[in-house]
Amino acid sequence: MTVAEIFPWQQVLWQQIRQPENLKRHHALLLKGRKGIGKLGFAFGLTQSVLCGQVDAAGVACGKCQDCYWFEQGLHPNFRLLEPEALSAPGGAAGKENEEGRVEAAGTKSGKKPSQQITIAQIRSLDDFIYLSAHQARDKVVLIHPAEAMNTAAANALLKKLEEPPEGVLFILVAHGASLIPATVLSRCRQIAMPAPEHKLARDWLVRQGITDPDFRLAISGFSPLLALQHDEQQSAPHADFIQSLCVPEKFDPIGLAEKLHKQDLSSVTSWLQKWCYDLMSSRISGRVRYHLQQADSIKRQAALMNPVAVGFMWRNLAASQQLARHPLNSRLFLEELFLTYGELIRPVGSETR
Ligand SMILES: [Zn+2]
Repeated sequence: MTVAEIFPWQQVLWQQIRQPENLKRHHALLLKGRKGIGKLGFAFGLTQSVLCGQVDAAGVACGKCQDCYWFEQGLHPNFRLLEPEALSAPGGAAGKENEEGRVEAAGTKSGKKPSQQITIAQIRSLDDFIYLSAHQARDKVVLIHPAEAMNTAAANALLKKLEEPPEGVLFILVAHGASLIPATVLSRCRQIAMPAPEHKLARDWLVRQGITDPDFRLAISGFSPLLALQHDEQQSAPHADFIQSLCVPEKFDPIGLAEKLHKQDLSSVTSWLQKWCYDLMSSRISGRVRYHLQQADSIKRQAALMNPVAVGFMWRNLAASQQLARHPLNSRLFLEELFLTYGELIRPVGSETR
């Protein structure tokens, strides 16, 4: 279970939101922002502070009382967490905000793949919880994460509850893609744009977590500190290899690279290439790169020789490939096709097909 944590870059927001009159005024909060900036930790922190009987002067939960104990064990009777089955299933991300929102499909008992959606049955299962009287007559909290995972029926069912808010219930919706949530639901929530840290704050925080290469990790994770923290050590070497082979375009070998990487997580490999293409475009347009700071020179040289429209096209297509990467029929073929397409981009203009 995700740990309640108010990150240094959320302190100002915390103070605003914890004002008692602010919390009482709203029955639904929507915490929105990009992945990996600590929205869920904040939502848990807020939840625990609502449930705790002995918050401190800053409104932070005590961590010692019975309520805190129950909450930390995931057993608090006044709390419900709604997540897609795939997130909460064993082997799922268990509440972690993993890269690109991807969730490994963990097998269930029936052998069926767990749902990536929050279903209407899950919303309906809240009825007894929110309409019956609270344990110790105190506030109840429903946390929905990620809120954009609600399918249409689920969103409509939630809307009914938000339109006639039950007494003493706080809904907290966490969204990485708020634009995917129906406007009717959004209009019933107080929307809060969650802050992302400045580089130095993120860097210092990572160092305190024992990370020795914070700059590399921050760059490669798009400056999202929690993603930087979770950056998979196992993937570091193949990822570095991958970047290396893209840096030497004249030796780029699509088939060989696919052979090397086809046992890796394909969704990750696809996102590596996405980031690389993003930097090619960005370098060409603005002269800056976002992810590959150490390879900026090579990227600039290569981008100058490429057709920028084609690179943009490839970058957009990679988003579609991301869908296929979850269920490829043949992982080697999948990567070969990806790399062959990329190979076309870096072929010097006017040269013959190899
Ligand atoms: Zn407490």
